[in-house]
Amino acid sequence: MSQAHSFSLAAETTDILTSLGVAPERLRGGTRTARSPITGEALAQVHDDTQADATAVIARAHAAFLQWRLLPAPKRGELVRLLGEELRANKAALGRLVSIEAGKIVSEGLGEVQEMIDICDFAVGLSRQLYGLTIATERAEHRMMETWHPLGVTGVISAFNFPVAVWAWNAAIALVCGNSVVWKPSEKTPLTALATDALLARALQRFRGEAPDGLAGLLLGGRAVGEMLVDDARVPLVSATGSTAMGRVVGACLAGRFARAILELGGNNAAIVTPTADLDLTLRAVAFAAMGTAGQRCTSLRRLFVHADVYEQLVPRLKQAYASVAIGNPLEQGTLIGPLIDRGAYDAMQDALSAAKDHGGRVFGGERVSVGGLNEAYYVRPALVEIAAQAGPVERETFAPILYVMPYRDLDAAIELHNAVPQGLSSSIFTNDLREAELFVSSRGSDCGIANVNIGPSGAEIGGAFGGEKETGGGRESGSDSWKAYMRRATNTVNYGRSLPLAQGVKFDLG
Ligand code: NAD
Repeated sequence: MSQAHSFSLAAETTDILTSLGVAPERLRGGTRTARSPITGEALAQVHDDTQADATAVIARAHAAFLQWRLLPAPKRGELVRLLGEELRANKAALGRLVSIEAGKIVSEGLGEVQEMIDICDFAVGLSRQLYGLTIATERAEHRMMETWHPLGVTGVISAFNFPVAVWAWNAAIALVCGNSVVWKPSEKTPLTALATDALLARALQRFRGEAPDGLAGLLLGGRAVGEMLVDDARVPLVSATGSTAMGRVVGACLAGRFARAILELGGNNAAIVTPTADLDLTLRAVAFAAMGTAGQRCTSLRRLFVHADVYEQLVPRLKQAYASVAIGNPLEQGTLIGPLIDRGAYDAMQDALSAAKDHGGRVFGGERVSVGGLNEAYYVRPALVEIAAQAGPVERETFAPILYVMPYRDLDAAIELHNAVPQGLSSSIFTNDLREAELFVSSRGSDCGIANVNIGPSGAEIGGAFGGEKETGGGRESGSDSWKAYMRRATNTVNYGRSLPLAQGVKFDLG
């Protein structure tokens, strides 16, 4: 653990931001304080956008869309390729900034930028594959096909815990699809957003003016600014990532004006450990999935069902891992658990633990840990809670490192409990029994958008398409066929014959 705090992250942050091309005036004089959860210190004073700003940014994005959609898709892909190059060249700096602003350990900060690079690669290939089907038609000498067209301005609202990757998952795809993009990042992470915007500006400059002005806009601010994006009729699609509470409001507003929504929301993710599981592998996977990123991933493992026959072999070892995990400054080598994002997250964790005790839970860990004597930073020991029944806080997502462990005897009953919470995003089974594994991924098994075997639930590959929150019907960003959500489908029928088949009995006398 760190010694007394003796460094300032503010100066380094300003250096990184200016080296990436962010204008100094964007970092001072504003009303919103950007902080690092590592030390709790203020890093910059950024400016919130107003309603007038939002209106202007969206208007420019709409005008840009009308031009951008005319460029051939592979040409649009060239811009995304250049963005990927900028990200590659600046991976270390942007990754470090993610660690400073979101509190992730160094490898996770860099990993987040790598995901941005990966989705750029994916989108460049996709720009040559935006294909529709040719469909057999009932009419003679006709051909029927589906064509995919650009949709319009794509609004992106993102959460603090993936401050930049979420934008890239959406923007890279939206841009090759022919859309413009307006981004409202989390109010807790405006600096990484400014840095990303500056890198995109460099890519646009290298694209040599072939992209219209306003193609990608950035709106800084809190919930109110997000609402401006959601309410604007010129935005036909909003991809919103965050809590289910946010998604419930945003989804209803978008439905109210018949706009499309991609909702990537919270998860109360679970894993089942069966008697045949490889317990060494399970231990590593569970410890990483539950404690990694200080439990602040949408796919963090939060509930663990352990078969009674292996409970005593697994759970005491897990408790040991919890007691010994390295907590501290995420910028230091060897740290596995960094800070919670802020005091609100700490309070929510303590509330959940005290509610768990009220429900008969036995809590191990969960206490605040002093790191370098920093009073404004919130470091905690991850908590493991042994609890007999799935009730109270076990049934909701607390965005902090709490793992509820429950014994089970019957797999069907465990799967039923697994599926009995509304927020299902990602899930796992640990087993060497083929039947159990196949059951878990079958229609009778996990009801989540991600169902894994012998690998933890946390994290997802962009190629497989992210998300799948069951409460919302399953948002999907990035890979697989998610691109279709960013485009509109038209069916075209072409008559290459000389007759015009009409419905039976219909006659026109055209003289
Ligand atoms: P949050 O819901 O508090 O905020 C997310 C974003 O929504 C922020 O930019 C916020 O300003 C905006 N927002 C909030 N209310 C809004 C409204 N009414 N209209 C428009 N915008 C609004 O979430 P958070 O605390 O930043 O992030 C943590 C949550 O995000 C967790 O629940 C986590 O599981 C979830 N998450 C999900 C995914 C996923 O892909 N499924 C990924 C990352 C995070």
